[in-house]
Amino acid sequence: MTATDQEKTYDLIGVGFGPSNLALTIAIEETELPIRVKFLEARPGFAWHPGMMIPGADMQISFLKDLVSQRNPQSRYTFVNYLHEKGRMNAFINRKTFFPSRVEFNDYLGWVAEQLGHCDYDRRVVGIEPVGQGNTVGAVDVLTQDAAGGTHSYRARNLVIAPGGTARLPPVCDSLKADPRVLHSNDYMRKVVPHLRPGERIAVVGAGQSAAEIFNDLAERPEAPHVDLILRGHAMKPSDDSPFVNEIFAPEQTDAFHAMPEGARAALRAELSATNYAVVDEDLILDIYTKLYEQSVLGEGRLALRSQTRIAGLSDSGARLRLHFEHRHGMSEAEYDRVIFATGYLRQLDETVLHGIAGFCEDFRTGRDYRLSMKDGFSPAVFVQGYSEVSHGLSDTLLSVLAQRSAEIVETLSDLFDDRQAVAAE
Ligand SMILES: Cc1cc2nc3c(=O)[nH]c(=O)nc-3n(C[C@H](O)[C@H](O)[C@H](O)COP(=O)(O)OP(=O)(O)OC[C@H]3O[C@@H](n4cnc5c(N)ncnc54)[C@H](O)[C@@H]3O)c2cc1C
Repeated sequence: MTATDQEKTYDLIGVGFGPSNLALTIAIEETELPIRVKFLEARPGFAWHPGMMIPGADMQISFLKDLVSQRNPQSRYTFVNYLHEKGRMNAFINRKTFFPSRVEFNDYLGWVAEQLGHCDYDRRVVGIEPVGQGNTVGAVDVLTQDAAGGTHSYRARNLVIAPGGTARLPPVCDSLKADPRVLHSNDYMRKVVPHLRPGERIAVVGAGQSAAEIFNDLAERPEAPHVDLILRGHAMKPSDDSPFVNEIFAPEQTDAFHAMPEGARAALRAELSATNYAVVDEDLILDIYTKLYEQSVLGEGRLALRSQTRIAGLSDSGARLRLHFEHRHGMSEAEYDRVIFATGYLRQLDETVLHGIAGFCEDFRTGRDYRLSMKDGFSPAVFVQGYSEVSHGLSDTLLSVLAQRSAEIVETLSDLFDDRQAVAAE
């Protein structure tokens, strides 16, 4: 260790300072839980999906589902109070929308993060080590690395892990993962946009909101790249945000979903997957359709939609990348300067920073209270946010339940501290 912060033992350390842990910090502050907390964030400052901060992209959720309103609408951290403090309340009302731009929501989240404090930035958690003897573990050391390679260690009595998803590239990329021309949507604004060259050929792979947003954005860029949107299905499908379907995102639905047998949960997730997976906002579909229509009127061919096309391979053809396509009636290939995979995110708990204490986990599924079941003798509580879709429902990776989930975690934390204080007093 070149640097240590070991003298401080925190009651709770959080990995990641995205919306999940922001919401939790608010809940801790507002319930006046007397605990010492620290959040560790890999990024140099607050940023919410910076690689997808596409100009003009809107939120897919009402501003009333901010970090706190559903739990405490009187909080000073509501989106409405943010508008008030920024002097934009009336202008926002005049826009007659529930859906702020992604840029504005990111600004709201950053505004909250700045007020809350409690976070050390530029601290990528690289490991968690048990502190104790043998199977008796009373705390954990959370090991971090900064951008300059410096290491730091923080000691915690309890953990809350909320690192979000990891960019998922399909197996065809395996041999070219490190090639800078092979990209994930996650890196679009940072690694694609600043380096666009006039006339280059770009493939965007995927059928969801990110793929559609990137295709649409590239279509509007002055560099005028040639862009193919490649999707397995017959057509882009609209996301379903109709009111009856939307009810599944209500926080109280978590109990109902969690109480279902495993088979019924899987069936419900499959039935309602068109709320979130491989679907696109209807207005964006219309926008893209109109662009392709206008292009056909002008007899141009810069933008193309290759549907019913599966990516069978990816190879390096020297100056370019070659994509190998499989269609219903045969194979074909095409060359691109860059290929952007908008193929989603992986959420596998055993592959996160938890592997250092994996041997103490009973299993990697959380309980109803978002807590992992740990073996006897391991006393730190380990909460996990955003990795329980299978057991808690489709809202688990989204913003919909953050306010309520935070309250539930705080309740368990509060019980834990009461119990420990009672033991200490005996
Ligand atoms: C482009 C995009 C748009 C979206 N739009 C919406 C929307 O409109 N509505 C909605 O409900 N959901 C949306 N989502 C879903 C999204 O998952 C949630 O909005 C939200 O970001 C979840 O918050 P989180 O804190 O759990 O995860 P994240 O926002 O991913 O935050 C995790 C944080 O942990 C940090 N981190 C990761 N690993 C480490 C480590 N080892 N050490 C330290 N820090 C680490 C990351 O840097 C990040 O800051 C969107 C997702 C994407 C990708």
